Amino acid sequence: MDKRQRLEQLKTAILNDNVCPELAEQATQLVMGDGNLDADIVFIGEAPGKKEDESGLPFVGASGKFLNEMLAQAGLMRADVYITNVVKYRPPNNRDPKPAEKQAFMPYLLRQLEIIRPQVVVTLGRHSMEYFLPGAVIGDVHGQPHRVTVGEVSLLIIPLYHPAAALYNGSLRATLIEDFLGVPAIIANEAARSQR
Ligand code: URA
Repeated sequence: MDKRQRLEQLKTAILNDNVCPELAEQATQLVMGDGNLDADIVFIGEAPGKKEDESGLPFVGASGKFLNEMLAQAGLMRADVYITNVVKYRPPNNRDPKPAEKQAFMPYLLRQLEIIRPQVVVTLGRHSMEYFLPGAVIGDVHGQPHRVTVGEVSLLIIPLYHPAAALYNGSLRATLIEDFLGVPAIIANEAARSQR
């Protein structure tokens, strides 16, 4: 089975397992993820917003536009990377996902990462960071790579601020852009290390 088929199977599992039925009931659709299934880099946000719920694609609203701009500045295109969220249904009125909702989706996120097998995972905001780096404070660790093992998977995690938080905050915006521009060098180091 190829990666696309395995991801389809994972989507079916989320639906059949009735994950977060209250969110599912209020959402238009499940937003699985988008991009290159052979990507070296996977971005993980928090949960779909209104535009994402309508289109079925992650990061297509204002945060997505900002993410695309930063990708371009870093010499990357959306087609080079894979983008998803921890929680795959839009929480009503864009409220924060609840701990139980994030927990419920985690096993599926891990299976998604096992299928794609990226070299690097960039977490966007604290909701996706906290699972991989429990107890970490984003203000202390942003932009720095951390090697972690989750289940059977070894991942290099780069925690970044969430684009929505940085969108209208000048200093956070500058920090996020600076961290973002550092990501290709971290990936290049990682590629060189794994070939040694
Ligand atoms: N914010 C997120 O965390 N994810 C999206 O898909 C869109 C906005």
